[in-house]
Amino acid sequence: MDHCHTSDLISLEQALEKMLGQIAPLQQTESVALTAAAGRITAAPVVSPLDVPPFANSAMDGYAVRLADLVANAPLPVAGKAFAGAPFDGQWPANSCVRIMTGAPIPAGADAVVMQEQAEVSDQGVRFTAPVEAGQNIRLAGEDIRQGASVLPAGVKLGAAQLPLLASLGVAEVQVMRKLKVAVFSTGDELQPVGQPLQAGQIYDTNRFAVRLMLEQMGCEVLDLGIIRDDRDALRDAFTQADSQADVVISSGGVSVGEADYTKQMLDELGQVSFWKLAIKPGKPFAFGKLGHAWFCGLPGNPVSAALTFYQLVQPLLAKLAGHSDWRLPPRLRARALTPLKKSPGRLDFQRGVFSSNAAGELEVSTTGHQGSHVFSSYSQGNCFIVLERERGSVAVGETVEIEPFNALLRS
Ligand code: AMP
Ligand code: MG
Repeated sequence: MDHCHTSDLISLEQALEKMLGQIAPLQQTESVALTAAAGRITAAPVVSPLDVPPFANSAMDGYAVRLADLVANAPLPVAGKAFAGAPFDGQWPANSCVRIMTGAPIPAGADAVVMQEQAEVSDQGVRFTAPVEAGQNIRLAGEDIRQGASVLPAGVKLGAAQLPLLASLGVAEVQVMRKLKVAVFSTGDELQPVGQPLQAGQIYDTNRFAVRLMLEQMGCEVLDLGIIRDDRDALRDAFTQADSQADVVISSGGVSVGEADYTKQMLDELGQVSFWKLAIKPGKPFAFGKLGHAWFCGLPGNPVSAALTFYQLVQPLLAKLAGHSDWRLPPRLRARALTPLKKSPGRLDFQRGVFSSNAAGELEVSTTGHQGSHVFSSYSQGNCFIVLERERGSVAVGETVEIEPFNALLRS
């Protein structure tokens, strides 16, 4: 049983440390138009080319005034109007005011804007009904962002929360990291691509589909090398080709005991790859190392294990390589188990669950059912991992467990 031989297993943290410790982010960057920058990673801090707001403007609909004109508390005639997009550009005689709208430039010399709710309009002009303070209702130039200030650091993924900010600054081009090139293939004589009929003993290739999708969502350029037969020469060709074309090569299958020695021999020829037994479930066998040129990740064959090891190990690796320095998995939360969870001690378990918050605002989680490493529906129905500590056994209803909400790679 697994828990009889846990000493030669390496923990998820150890594996991550070994992997991330060996790699450094790509160096190449490129300039892209803002309209093509979604999903890209900033390569340098983005600096504002202008003050925001670019000029002092009114925060209210009302009247621009000079404090000196208010001393007599007499009605002030209106000297003209200032609209957003159409400034007041006339003469502003003493003892008058300017009608002003929200967003309109503040006329030169104005000390304050009085909101129209505090103004009484008569034939003599406008009188103000509340005390007026210098600067009130004026948004100053550069109050939000100063020209030259850094608005985004390097290493940030550009999405709907970042790109509009750059658009508001008139930034038309942005310096981003170049895309990672990732080659992917599946190994196994039993595999068929979708669209082909299944012969006796064959199954559809799930892993390449899953990995390709997750790579695309991470913004990688994907080289799909298809399905490679369990044949030494075919595998050597695939590895060699992938190594020469990509920054990272990801294969699935063929890393478990029995097959591992065979794949291992060949990978030893091509580079330096370690075959690990991870203390996680699913996903025990995993390979990582360097081929001649590219980094290599060998995922286990079972689809749930392949997806999980990609998610927990390859995703952080690719994020670091891609220069995405603020990348994080969603934080783990505590939830009450609504269903029993089967587990034996020995490995950190990533079961798939559905969590929600109850009427009292507390988190609750249920299993998605059968947790076999070949049961992909356990993912499709879930919205989180239920992360059960290595030494923990089965969980009874009502116990507190840790959950880790899926990020956008598994659920959008
Ligand atoms: P392996 O690691 O190659 O021994 O594969 C372990 C299990 O995963 C076997 O049942 C394989 O048929 C299955 N498997 C391997 N690769 C894939 C794949 N790409 N899609 C679906 N199942 C796979
Ligand atoms: Mg296989």
